[in-house]
Amino acid sequence: MDLRICHLYGDLMSIYGDRGNVLTLQRRAEWRGIAATVETVSAGDRLDPERFDLYFFGGGQDAQQDIVAADLAGPNGVALKEAIAGGAAVLSVCGGYQLLGHFYRPFEGPELPGVSALDVHTVAGRRRFIGNVVATAEQPLVGFENHSGLTYLGPNAKPLATIEVGAGNNGEDGSEGAVQGKVIGTYLHGSLLPKNPWLADKVITWALERRNGHVDLPALDDTAEREAREHAIALAHKRR
Ligand code: GLN
Repeated sequence: MDLRICHLYGDLMSIYGDRGNVLTLQRRAEWRGIAATVETVSAGDRLDPERFDLYFFGGGQDAQQDIVAADLAGPNGVALKEAIAGGAAVLSVCGGYQLLGHFYRPFEGPELPGVSALDVHTVAGRRRFIGNVVATAEQPLVGFENHSGLTYLGPNAKPLATIEVGAGNNGEDGSEGAVQGKVIGTYLHGSLLPKNPWLADKVITWALERRNGHVDLPALDDTAEREAREHAIALAHKRR
């Protein structure tokens, strides 16, 4: 098996340690003897929908989101949806998450269309949510959020996690992130995956299954990762 990772708009959308997510995906595959390559595809490049098993789409501020939304409104948005329909897995964070929904309405300026890979929409709110987050999914999820966008889920998207500390999608309904098929969106940076290896493995498994049928990843020794997560949980509780 080999894993082909695309860092989508990696030169424009990568903040608060997002690149650590790409490294984690690559390393956790390699530690199991699975060769993993990373290529960046950005605005103006041509995305080949057949090429990648896994897309990582990170966060960015509104100026970068303008450029990316314009690019996704062309052939690359169509290609990304084709890739998803063909079984590719996607992990998106914050600004990337917002652009995988139906639209992002910034505080000023025109609404940015998304690709509707997730049944969510986002409107800019008046306050900015900044700080460490703890949420519960199949396992605890920890990260760092910094966004003013308020994201609301439609019936086809399920929340990724339930908030314990922090705001998550909108600070109102207690939900954090979204999952629809093999597409995940979350507000958690920080980096997210080094401290939440179970989520990394879920996305890697989905991605490998695109070309290999059912995949069972062997377990890794995650002692250090678990300790990092415990530390992050303790820090986040001080935010309350
Ligand atoms: N501009 C978006 C917001 O503040 C995204 C920010 C981000 O990706 N950190 O909601």
